[in-house]
Amino acid sequence: MFVSDCISVNENGHLTLGGYDTVSLAREFGTPLYAYDEEQIRKNARAYKKSIDENYGGNGLVLYASKAFCCKEMCRICNDEGLGLDVVSGGELYTALSAGFPAEKIYFHGNNKTAAEISEALDAGVGRIIADNITELEMLNSTAGKKGRTANILLRIKPGIDAHTHDFIRTGQIDSKFGFALETGEAMQAVKLALSYPNISLAGLHCHIGSQIFELSPFELAAKVMIEFYAEIKKETGAELDELDLGGGFGIKYLDSDEPVAYPEYMKSVAAAVKENCAALGVKVPFILIEPGRSIVGSAGLTLYTVGSVKTIPGVRTYVSVDGGMGDNPRYILYQSPYEIVCAGKANEKKDLIATIAGKCCESGDLIQENAPVQKVQPGDTLAVLSTGAYNYSMASNYNRIPRPAAVMVRDGSARLIIKRETYENLIENDI
Ligand SMILES: *Cc1c(COP(=O)(O)O)cnc(C)c1O
Repeated sequence: MFVSDCISVNENGHLTLGGYDTVSLAREFGTPLYAYDEEQIRKNARAYKKSIDENYGGNGLVLYASKAFCCKEMCRICNDEGLGLDVVSGGELYTALSAGFPAEKIYFHGNNKTAAEISEALDAGVGRIIADNITELEMLNSTAGKKGRTANILLRIKPGIDAHTHDFIRTGQIDSKFGFALETGEAMQAVKLALSYPNISLAGLHCHIGSQIFELSPFELAAKVMIEFYAEIKKETGAELDELDLGGGFGIKYLDSDEPVAYPEYMKSVAAAVKENCAALGVKVPFILIEPGRSIVGSAGLTLYTVGSVKTIPGVRTYVSVDGGMGDNPRYILYQSPYEIVCAGKANEKKDLIATIAGKCCESGDLIQENAPVQKVQPGDTLAVLSTGAYNYSMASNYNRIPRPAAVMVRDGSARLIIKRETYENLIENDI
């Protein structure tokens, strides 16, 4: 009935998240509010872990791409579920370490790590640093040398496959700021350089082909291209790389019409592609890493707002204004992302209104959704926007000096605060 399994309706006709009444959540914690179902997050994590066990005999690791939703409690849950973590900045690394996340299971990404971030990552003893470019390789080698350490790295490769949602293209030379290109010889040059550096240990390669992908074929193709490159490396240098990180990008349901592939299916067919190509080319099956972000947290979260004004412009449209907006959810203004909207207290009523859900920022583009079906809402109603668990809190801003919302985690019939609501004092904390 809803886009996510953890969403339902209770006997009062109220929308529930993980069995918890969302109208009560809004009353207890205030709005806007990010709310998560912990069981759903854990289920998603376990499904990925199981797929590694089943398809690679456990010879792999699931890294949660923390940029989707990064806070200390999320890091603790991932650690508890046996996941590793993908971080892309010193800030995400700091968050993970503050939560007691084991450094050796942290993989540090990014296309332009600063000298300070490289130093922090080496000092922390992160598991792998994913090197993006030659400048970074040189910096990694020299910084590790100065510290008397070895930098354990992967190289980010552009496999020449660019996948976005319903479509993917295979180009000769992909135009991307990330990583080393295969077809120009740049990737092979980087491999040789990495192998030659005394303070670098090259464990393997990484690729990530896009996000919100609904098809199997681009993932299978990326796996094939990468294994072919492993074979080429073996032939040219004699080196057999131990690890292969295939990235994330698995799609989720935002609207009922979305049809993502079930995760076990992705893993099964990608594993088949890896094994077939390894066998055909005489390459050993590497330790496999995958990096799901959105598909771990996206559909496990929703946002609750309180409706302020409802403004009907005859012959034009109805604006339903809420107490949040682009500050807590910039995805509509950035990508025109679709969302399912539900009036939380009237969840079993028919959606007989077509409304544009507007935020409270001084910006006409500050919309959460245009022309969306919703129940007849009135001022004071609680409005739920579903599947906002990924890339909402993590992309939030203080535009118009609006404090960022709180986040709560629901589990076993109780709800607990995991991120406090920002205060006005927080807003001026760093002002001088
Ligand atoms: C963003 C990103 C991910 C996660 O992508 P999702 O679409 O959220 O699964 C994984 N790996 C890298 C390198 C990324 O940049």
